[in-house]
Amino acid sequence: MAGLLERHIAVITGSGSGIGRAIALGYAREGAHVAVADIDAKAAAETVEAITAAGGKAQSFTLDVTDRDKCREIAGEIRRQIGQVTILVNNAGINRRNAFTADPQAVTKDWQDIMAVNLNGVFNVTHALLEQLRASRGRIVNIASIQSFMHVRTPNSLAYTTSKHGVLGFTRALAAELGKDGVRVNAIGPGLIETPLNARARANHPELVKIFLDHTPLGRTGKPEDIVGPAIFLACDLSGYVTGSIIMADGGYRVI
Ligand code: NAP
Repeated sequence: MAGLLERHIAVITGSGSGIGRAIALGYAREGAHVAVADIDAKAAAETVEAITAAGGKAQSFTLDVTDRDKCREIAGEIRRQIGQVTILVNNAGINRRNAFTADPQAVTKDWQDIMAVNLNGVFNVTHALLEQLRASRGRIVNIASIQSFMHVRTPNSLAYTTSKHGVLGFTRALAAELGKDGVRVNAIGPGLIETPLNARARANHPELVKIFLDHTPLGRTGKPEDIVGPAIFLACDLSGYVTGSIIMADGGYRVI
């Protein structure tokens, strides 16, 4: 049976690890040719190895999403080496956990670094791929968060919450603008997903993980694989009339 993403070319940022890696493997299983783009070249190469070992198609690209010129360069390289991009997943993201009242230098650096990756990075990559996505009537999937709606007390900086609110705003505004070109733009809002991003916080603050789980109807943390189904749905033709939306994959956190 043909996969849901046959003949698609998908760029996934931050796909050397965690949620991005799981989406890359899932897209490749559905037949997409995946451009695995990550700041960590070794991690990107490992994702490609896992995809090719499973019989899929992928190539790695070393990309720091904060570097606007490099984003343009890589967009051109992907076009030449693989073909016209039809799917973009803006997944690369970082978090820091200082309170706003902590050392001013640390707080300022957190703000600048988080905005540079989580928000400007989304702009940079999307803008670099805009013409390819318009030409292919493509699909954009942005990885947002429950923190696109609220601040969560597991230690998270104010900058992270602000950046994820911004990702949702970007999703809605771009969906409105690109609808006429047939480009769909949606987001996914993961809850607490077990990845390296939060491994230290989970290990150091089990009491806060418990507070989180007590607030989660499904009563468990998520795995990266829990985000793959929503990401495939938003990238494939099954969601042909869905744009400007966010799918929450949070175990029900926002319901109560
Ligand atoms: P992760 O395991 O740390 O993976 C993120 C990947 O992005 C890493 O390979 C990281 O490389 C890479 N990266 C960091 N900065 C980059 C840059 N400037 N350019 C390109 N790649 C960069 O994190 P994750 O949990 O899978 O997070 C993926 C996305 O999901 C993020 O946007 C995050 O905010 C979002 N999210 C996660 C959760 C959760 O609970 N895990 C919940 C809601 C939303 P390095 O490892 O070298 O930094």
